[in-house]
Amino acid sequence: MKKIEIYDTTLRDGTQAENFNLSVEDKVRITLRLDEFGVDFIEGGWPGANPASSEFFDEIRRYHLKHSRLMAFGSTRMFRNPPGEDANLAALVAAGAAGITIFGKSWDIHVTEALRIALDDNLTIIEDSLAFLRPGVDFLFYDAEHFFDGYKARPDYALETLARAVAGGADCLILCDTNGGTLPHEIRGIIAAVQEFFTARGESPRLGIHAHNDSDTAVANSLIAVDQGAVQVQGTINGYGERCGNANLT
Ligand SMILES: [Zn+2]
Repeated sequence: MKKIEIYDTTLRDGTQAENFNLSVEDKVRITLRLDEFGVDFIEGGWPGANPASSEFFDEIRRYHLKHSRLMAFGSTRMFRNPPGEDANLAALVAAGAAGITIFGKSWDIHVTEALRIALDDNLTIIEDSLAFLRPGVDFLFYDAEHFFDGYKARPDYALETLARAVAGGADCLILCDTNGGTLPHEIRGIIAAVQEFFTARGESPRLGIHAHNDSDTAVANSLIAVDQGAVQVQGTINGYGERCGNANLT
């Protein structure tokens, strides 16, 4: 039987929920409880964006976790910074966690309108940000932000972002339904297309799912992804998260 990894992001994505604030002490207590539950990965925060996250990573080092691996979260480097001079990547390394998850853009319009860089340059920062982080961690995951919407808009480009994450050394590609607008029947077809894309390249990267609940189908979408072969499910306790929340791990 295949093992499904549970990746909890209550301490990061969960805290995007309205009126949901956690002190460093709260985060430590929740981490210890998640460890007791046997959660495989705990995302502790985004040290580059949030100083309290760095404080948490310093504090949690004093504790011994029995099972869970701690993950630091951040983004691909800024295009103008070489990987070795990017403050966000440096903060991720400084967190000293067992692993790092970075997110990058899969949707062409977010590359040209939000990052305001060329599509090829986005592929470069995905690959070289991961390659830079790779030697320092045991676990390196890639969150493909807005992957399903990106795939619907421009499938060839969305798939190429994943290929470059594999080239950069990602252990797992997490397909994110960041807006929560993808319905279960669409999830199945798009994951199948991702698998066909990699099979044609002679590759079979591990896939994960990160679903938001705006259509009230985050859990359903996650179950379908697992049925399709995804080996990692990202979500939060009680489904806490931005807007309508994340997939509810409980
Ligand atoms: Zn999310």
